[in-house]
Amino acid sequence: MKTLLSAALLSFTLWAAPAAAQDPNEPRWSLAIHGGAGTLDPERITPELRAEYEAALQDALDRGTQILKDGGSAVDAVKAAIVPLEDNPLFNAGRGAVFTWEGENELDASIMVGGDRSAGAVTGVKAIKNPILLADKVRTESRHVFLSGAGAEEFAADKGLETAGPEWFATERRREALERMKARQLSATDVDHKFGTVGAVALDLSGNLAAGTSTGGMTGKRWGRIGDSPMIGAGNYADNRSCAVSATGSGEYFIRVGVAKEICSRLFYRLLRERDAVQATVPVDEQGVPEYYIHASEFGIEASAAQEEADAVMAEVKGLGGSGGVILVTPDGHALYSFNTTGMYRGRATSDGVNEVAIFAGE
Ligand code: ASP
Repeated sequence: MKTLLSAALLSFTLWAAPAAAQDPNEPRWSLAIHGGAGTLDPERITPELRAEYEAALQDALDRGTQILKDGGSAVDAVKAAIVPLEDNPLFNAGRGAVFTWEGENELDASIMVGGDRSAGAVTGVKAIKNPILLADKVRTESRHVFLSGAGAEEFAADKGLETAGPEWFATERRREALERMKARQLSATDVDHKFGTVGAVALDLSGNLAAGTSTGGMTGKRWGRIGDSPMIGAGNYADNRSCAVSATGSGEYFIRVGVAKEICSRLFYRLLRERDAVQATVPVDEQGVPEYYIHASEFGIEASAAQEEADAVMAEVKGLGGSGGVILVTPDGHALYSFNTTGMYRGRATSDGVNEVAIFAGE
């Protein structure tokens, strides 16, 4: 099969091909996380603050990694990585979320599992300590995908989710950001954002993908504005046949492009095109019936192909005027980023031995 495939395989490799140094026959795991993207300047961050961000990212990465190494599920790893980021006031999710125009913290989150494409999401919740856990309850314990506001909180109460008062979520730094914005008479979309949404994507040893995203949205959001983060297909998506994606950035653009699903679809169809190209080289009998059929699952997605599609979709976002980034993990265990801002708080770890956190572009 390899000889037949080699000519047609430009960007996809055999499923068993190694992502890096690991034994190709061993199952692999992979995790990528983000803590938002935006205008980040290495000159304007103190070494202390940088160390704080890096420690928080490393901690989230380690928690998710431990689950994957122990054979746990991708969705559990995603939750384990996101919860500490939600609890950390440095990030715009859970505690430390940005303020709405009315001076409240309204939280959005979504989660998706790539095997059965089950998904859960919540928007506009104000008293749930960890919105990502509520999104997952929607996925596992309701017949719905997307719940909002008071209804979502009622559902959370039924399921015994931990609650927290406004003082838990509110931080001085975010309140000042709202006040500065109001003083300059700007609207949420005029501000030069330093995003702080959090997300995680994972591949587990059983080959399952999962993606999760959690945010407070945008400083000064009003009129019940909802961004991409809780929208399945825009800020979050997972499909075992292609990839798991979590996004951060100017949500309106990510919704218009349907970023997360667009990346996964591009990868899926690219794989099918490659499969068809190889199938066309298989000899046929007099009736035109091929000697054998090639299945898409015999292929893997190369890192360069996944990077190319993610970059192309992020270029579309930029073309419309949007900024931000994505993290993705492929079924072969490649953990990648693509962002069009000067920085993105991020980290990745894989069974190939990769383990890194970074903030600025080029790092
Ligand atoms: N995407 C989020 C939103 O538009 C914001 C962010 O990622 O920082 O609500």
